[in-house]
Order: sequence, then C-alpha cells, then structure tokens
Amino acid sequence: MNDIQLEVSGGIATLKLDARGAAVNTVSPPWIEEMMSVFEALKVDATVRGVIIASAKPTFMAGADLKYILGRMADIDEAEGFAFSQRGTALHRLIETCGKPVVAVIEGPALGGGYELALACTRRIVADLPQAVVGLPEVHVGLLPGSGGTQRLPRLVGVERALEVLLQGRSYAPEAALELGLVDERVPAGAVLDAARRWIGSTPDPVRAWDRKGFALEQSDGLLKPPTAALFQQATGSLLAKYGCNYPAPVSILSCVFEGVQVPIEAGLRIESRHFARLIANPVSRNIIRTGFVNKGRAQAGARRPEGVPKATVRKLGILGAGMMGAGIAYAAARAGIEVVLLDTSMEAASKGVQYSAKLLSKETARGRRSEADAASILNRITPVVDYAALAEVDLVVEAVFEDTAVKAEVTRKAQAVIRPDVLFASNTSTLPISRLAEAFARPQHFIGLHFFSPVERMELVEVILGRRTEPAALAQALDFVAQIRKTPIVVNDARGFYTSRVFQTLIHEGMALLAEGVAPALIENAARQAGLPVGPLALLDEVSLALPLKIVRQAMAEDAAYVRPATADVLELMAERLGRGGRKTGQGFYEYPPEGSKRLWRGLGEHFPVRDRQPDVEEVKKRILYVQSIETARCLEEGVLTHPADADLGAVLGWAFPAWTGGTLSLIETVGIGVFVEECERLAACYGARFAPTRQLREMAHSGAGFSY
Ligand code: NAD
Repeated sequence: MNDIQLEVSGGIATLKLDARGAAVNTVSPPWIEEMMSVFEALKVDATVRGVIIASAKPTFMAGADLKYILGRMADIDEAEGFAFSQRGTALHRLIETCGKPVVAVIEGPALGGGYELALACTRRIVADLPQAVVGLPEVHVGLLPGSGGTQRLPRLVGVERALEVLLQGRSYAPEAALELGLVDERVPAGAVLDAARRWIGSTPDPVRAWDRKGFALEQSDGLLKPPTAALFQQATGSLLAKYGCNYPAPVSILSCVFEGVQVPIEAGLRIESRHFARLIANPVSRNIIRTGFVNKGRAQAGARRPEGVPKATVRKLGILGAGMMGAGIAYAAARAGIEVVLLDTSMEAASKGVQYSAKLLSKETARGRRSEADAASILNRITPVVDYAALAEVDLVVEAVFEDTAVKAEVTRKAQAVIRPDVLFASNTSTLPISRLAEAFARPQHFIGLHFFSPVERMELVEVILGRRTEPAALAQALDFVAQIRKTPIVVNDARGFYTSRVFQTLIHEGMALLAEGVAPALIENAARQAGLPVGPLALLDEVSLALPLKIVRQAMAEDAAYVRPATADVLELMAERLGRGGRKTGQGFYEYPPEGSKRLWRGLGEHFPVRDRQPDVEEVKKRILYVQSIETARCLEEGVLTHPADADLGAVLGWAFPAWTGGTLSLIETVGIGVFVEECERLAACYGARFAPTRQLREMAHSGAGFSY
C-alpha cells in the first residue's frame, strides 16, 4: 500500500487517499495501478458490502499533476494519449461496475480527475465546508476530463447542465453542487463518514442508471431530441465568438458530449479518450499549462531569486508620485498589509492617490467582497505626504513620478538624503534605462527597476529590471517584495524599453505599417482579434495614446545614434499632431468615439491611408502581427535582455495579453516549429522589411534541431 490507506470494518472498506510525501492527492499512473489492484481485490472480497473513498489530506483530490502532464507532453502522440486516458477510464469503470455501492466522501476540493473519480462512485456526499468544492476545470488548461467526466456528467445531470459545468470549468461550493446534482447529499462537516455508512447500510442498488437495460437520457430517444441538439449549434457559435479558432478544448468538449450521449457509455468513453488524445498531443494545451500554470507558479515561488540571501519583508513602503501608477502600487501594497507613505508635490495630489484606493475598496465592500472594517484598515495604512522626512523609516522606495530623467533624478536624490543607508530604491519607469537612472543614486548596487502594469490592481505582472550594477541581494529583496504583494515577476536586463515595452512597440508599429501599406483597417483589427489578441493594434494605440509611442521614438532618436526611425512614426505624427487624433483620451484617434453608441473605426482613415485594391490574406496579416513580436523577443534573448525563455512567455501573456494559446512569444516559435518559423521570417523580411529577419541564434537552432531550454 503506497498512496492509499485501506481499512475494513463492519463489512465496509474505507479507502483514504494519501499520496506519500505530497501536499495534495493527484492522479498519476502509479496511483491508478494501485487503485486498480485495490478494487480488483475488493470486487471479489465477499466480506465487503460497500466501499467509501475519502481523503487523508485536506484536498479530496486535485486531478492530474500538471507538472507531470507537462513532462509527458514533450513527446506524447495521440496513440499514447489515448492509452493514458483509457487507463484512468478503466479504473473508473472498474469502480462503477464492481458490484458494490461505492461512496465518495468529499471534505476538500474534488477537482478534475478528483471529481471524475467521485462521478464514478455510486454516490457523492459532500461536507458542508466552503473548501469542499467540486468541478471540472480541464477546459482552462486546454484539455477535457479524460476519464469519464464528459460522459457521466450529462448522464447524471442532463446535457445542458453538464455543458455549463464542462465549458465554464468553475468550482462549485456544496450548496450549488447539490442544487445542480453534482453531489447527492450535503451533510455537516464531521458527519460525512457516518452518512456514507448509513447509505451503504440501506443496501442500495450499485448498478449505475446508464448500465441498466433500456437507459435513455431525458433529452434523447436514441438520438438527441431537436431542442437539445440545437443547443450544440448555439454553443458552437458562442464558443467561436469567445475563443475564435485558437482553443480546441471547448469545441472538443462539445463533440464528446454530443457524440458520446448518443451511444452506450462504453463507446462514449472511447470517444472521450480519442478527443482527449488529440488535445494532449496538440501544443496549445502544453502552451497553456507551461506558461499559465507551471512557469507562472515557478516565477511566483521565486525561480529567479538568488540563493543564500535572507528573506526580506517590507513593513513600510515609500512611494514617490501619487499618480495613476503610484496610487495603484499603494493599493496593492496596503492590501498586502504594508504601511505606505505616498508622496507627491502637493497634499492635494497625494490625497488624490489615496482616494484611488478608497474608490476601489468601496466597490469591493459594495459587492460584498470585503468587510467595511477590513477596507478601513487597508485605507488607514496609506498616508499621503509631501515631506521627504516621512520616508525615514521605509524599507523600500518605489519611484513613480513623471517619465522624465531630470524629475526622477531630483526625487531620487531627495529620498536618498533621508532613507536608511541599506534601503532598496526601485523605479517604475516604463522606458528609461535603469543604469542611467541609477546614476542619481549613491548606491547603484541597491537600485533596480520594478515595472508595474496599468491598472496595477488588475495586472499581475511586474517586470524586474537589473541595472548594470544592481547586486544579487537587491534582486532577491525586490522579488521578495513582488511576492509579498502577490504579483508575478519576470527578471530582465537593462536595455531600451527593457523587454515588455520594446516588444509591445513592435505590435503597434506593425499595425500602423499595415495601415500605411493600404491594408483595410478592419482587416488589421479583425486579424489581430482572430489571432487571439483582445483588441487590434489600432485600438490599442488609441488606448495607450499616440503621444506615448511618438515620445519613445523621439527619445530613442535623441539618445541612440544607432536607432533607426521607423517609417510608421510618420503615421503617428500625422494622426496625433497634424490631424489632432491622439487616441481615446483626446476623444478621437484611429477610432471615433460617439457620445452614444460604441466606438468605430474612423471613417476618414481611408482618405489618409488609401485602401489598396488587392488585400492580403487574413492569415498573412495574423502572421505579421504575431511573428513581429516573436522575432523581437528572440532578439531580446540573443542580446541577453532576456535570459530565460519562461520570462519571455510570461511577460508577453501577462504583460500585454499576447494570446494564451501560443504560450507566449517564444512558445509560439516552438509551436510553429523553429525551422518553419525561420523560413517564414525570411520570406516576411524579403516582403516587408528587415524587422522580420531571423536571428543568428534562431537559424542555428533551426539547423541543429535544438529547442529553447525552459
Ligand atoms: P502620472 O502622471 O499619473 O503620475 C505621476 C505623479 O508624479 C503625479 O501625481 C505627479 O504630481 C507626481 N510628481 C511629478 N513630479 C514629482 C515630484 N518632483 N515629486 C513628487 N511627485 C511628483 O504618471 P503615471 O502614469 O502614474 O506614471 C508614473 C511612472 O510610471 C512613469 O515613469 C511611467 O512611465 C511609469 N509607468 C506608467 C504606466 C502607465 O500605464 N501609465 C505603466 C508602467 C509604468
């Protein structure tokens, strides 16, 4: 017995899931084999009348171990994926056909494979505890429940409800779970085992409804009845509207249910395994799991933190500048229990920064997400000030004043005069080189970039930028602070635009390049959205305001002799300066914003950027928009701005919503295949310009067959 404790008493076998040396129970091949042998034995043990499956850990079962799945994904093909799914399916089938009533007793989360196990039991009893949630979240990792979930759930609760649970991937607390029929009984905590024994004592029929002769779903008479069948058409439409064609999992789930409920369960289970196999062999699920879960988790756990540096805790934080970013950082820190001194040039400006938190907190209390007392204590932690003396006791300073080297230098010197001599100083600059800003600070080894994203309360990424002289202990301290405020860090080296701002520029400039070439604006915007971006590059430009990229171009021209002015700067100058269309803030940009109704592309665009007769294929436009970002990322890696591929991917997906299905800018290259990507980039470079030229490193990788080392 390894991961399962077995106890038989009074004719009832109780299995307690207890994965050795692990915090949670997860589904793994060894566990499946162990459960198989336990159930083979119980099936033929005449002294056992019924079985209870419980957990010795706080979770019932968390489903598959994503790190394990990711490890297998490197080389799994459809045949292996099918066999993998069928083995779990065989276990669940053995449980439900063992001829004895089996009860799942759920006192902690039963998610994914954990809930599928519960579905294979004759009855599900849940403890009335908020943490005892059930659900099938596989859709969120680009997969589907592959051991019977898509087949048992519709047979248990009906097609419509099952689709909702499977496609939304939510967790359901006991009350909702009971209401939806996801569990059969809800009992007070501590009474679950008794309830299970009582039910087994009532000698229930252990045969599942779908294994009885003549079973038919209410929604079917062999074939699905028209109203239910029509549901699938509607659902397909809304899934396409929501995900485009980039995410295969939701549509596979629909297919599994549609095909599976019209055949006997055994055939349905094989259909499910076939769809599962296709998904697990498809890079999209690997991309989502690798970036969105595994690498994100590693970053949060301090993957890039230098070793041997004692952990630092910020008790009091000084923020210079109470504008949009300073105010947002103050809120994030106060929410994490940190005292904040928020400094600006006037008490009015500093207090306005505090008001930002007050507004967010009052929204949270109005929605019942936070108590009044809690909100008040968070707000009390933020003190608006104008006097630098208030910074005397801070453990860290974050500077968020205007994006201007001289202004930043002035506040840096003033803060330095009062802070303790070991305090870390961080700048939230989005573009100014950190090593240059550090020149205003007497201890450049204690100077670092902490680039937050707007709005701070919603954006979880922080790009940590190392100056030339930043020391490892300073990085460790900065990462401890990022963890303290529960954000996700990436670590990059100093360069113009660092990583995120630099690659983001290529996205918006490509949008303008397409426009200037005569590509229809609607085609540009729709292609970007079809590729999976939340909005098109022209809409993005309007949001960030055209003045910002224009300023970045001009600054680079002034400071960097090697910088080549992009032709698209003409588009910015024409729009923002000659036509006065500076973006949403100015009321007009590439879009017009009628006071009533929704925004629409500006009708006058055609006059300044005539649309040419022959339009490119939408796939070509999508490719340009995505590849230009990937190739710039590859340059950042080659130049050493980025040192880890995981940082590139995480920064892209979390920083500027690069499509999650790609796994990030570098994962996209792997998804396409490095060789194919290099060839395509050569073609694009020949057609549209050197910005698409593949890097030396990529060419070498294509030649040697090497991949990125994640
Ligand atoms: P903002 O204009 O909203 O706020 C700047 C604040 O700094 C203002 O309240 C201003 O009064 C204050 N300030 C100016 N000079 C000061 C001085 N000498 N002493 C004290 N306070 C002073 O700007 P923001 O959008 O919050 O940006 C702040 C910094 O964050 C910039 O470096 C910007 O590049 C960077 N940033 C901005 C974003 C964004 O999306 N807005 C994102 C990431 C980083």
